Amino acid sequence: MEKLKGVTNVNKALLRRTIFRQKEETMPPYAFFKEQFMPLSEAKVGILTQALHYGTATFGGIRGNWDSEEERFCLFRIQDHYKRLLDACRILRIRLPYSVDDMCHLSTELLVESGYQEDVYIRPLAYKSSQAIGVRLHDLDDDFLVIVTTLPAYLGGKGVRCCTSSWRRVDDTMIPARGKICGAYVNSALAKTDAHENGFDEAILLTYDGHVSEGTGENIFLAINGKLVTPPSSDNILIGITRDTVIKLAKNELDIDTIERSVDRSELYLAEECFFTGTATNIAQVVEIDHRTIGNGETGEITAKLQQLFAEVALGRNPHYSHWYTLVSPARVEA
Ligand code: PMP
Repeated sequence: MEKLKGVTNVNKALLRRTIFRQKEETMPPYAFFKEQFMPLSEAKVGILTQALHYGTATFGGIRGNWDSEEERFCLFRIQDHYKRLLDACRILRIRLPYSVDDMCHLSTELLVESGYQEDVYIRPLAYKSSQAIGVRLHDLDDDFLVIVTTLPAYLGGKGVRCCTSSWRRVDDTMIPARGKICGAYVNSALAKTDAHENGFDEAILLTYDGHVSEGTGENIFLAINGKLVTPPSSDNILIGITRDTVIKLAKNELDIDTIERSVDRSELYLAEECFFTGTATNIAQVVEIDHRTIGNGETGEITAKLQQLFAEVALGRNPHYSHWYTLVSPARVEA
């Protein structure tokens, strides 16, 4: 709470939250909306909201990993998530009165107030909030909200069976993939549902010129000749925070280099190992692509080691990576 002092917009929100608490003592606040903390059921947008019609918004997804032994959350690389969100805001010309630090504090407060003691997912959204017909980015109001909710299992556990999608990944000249821009997720949704209806767990999207880009909500890695290979930022990927974490863990802890280069479709079939990375997914082993078994169809050696290392850092337990952790206990904010 000390840290919140001097942050004007956050202070205003806290003041409003106190008023809200007095009114609704029993209802937990699950959303920060219109500069107030409130129950999700009360956070509503009007049906003319510009972002609802045109996808002119950007979202984030931050994991709060609950460590039941330490009785605390680890918000993993929350600053990096909010830096990326503010970069996407620049692309979309969304202007917000909040800094990265303000957003981190708001999210932490929301989490504490929610009362959860299990893995959570924090979903911020910055959006064109004007009640206005007409597609554009200019002359519109902007707004920012945060939701905290529980995190359903995503792709984890068993090996993932994939297909190559007939949909191509949106190009940087169409909708920049380096931001989590809401409208661009139609591209992911088309590919995901096709994959699902054809009996696969996930789709791999290619760029327009036929190189491997990423999954519908995950980056992709291959192990080839004992090294890691992943598509470069110029192949229309979201530059994932988990991707960056894996590159660093592989180098620092396993002495394995990652080569960022364009990947051909057929390289997918021949890789020794393949896995997805993402905030919801963590590290998920891919066991089959287009009906070809990857490696021996089991979790590969490098993948398993990275999964183990990642599980430790995601809970905030490896002191070498403390700069990635914001540790939050239900009673107090530690970092
Ligand atoms: N690609 C896409 C399209 C995504 O939506 C995500 C999830 N945010 C990722 C990759 C993985 O990014 P991160 O590791 O930052 O969650």
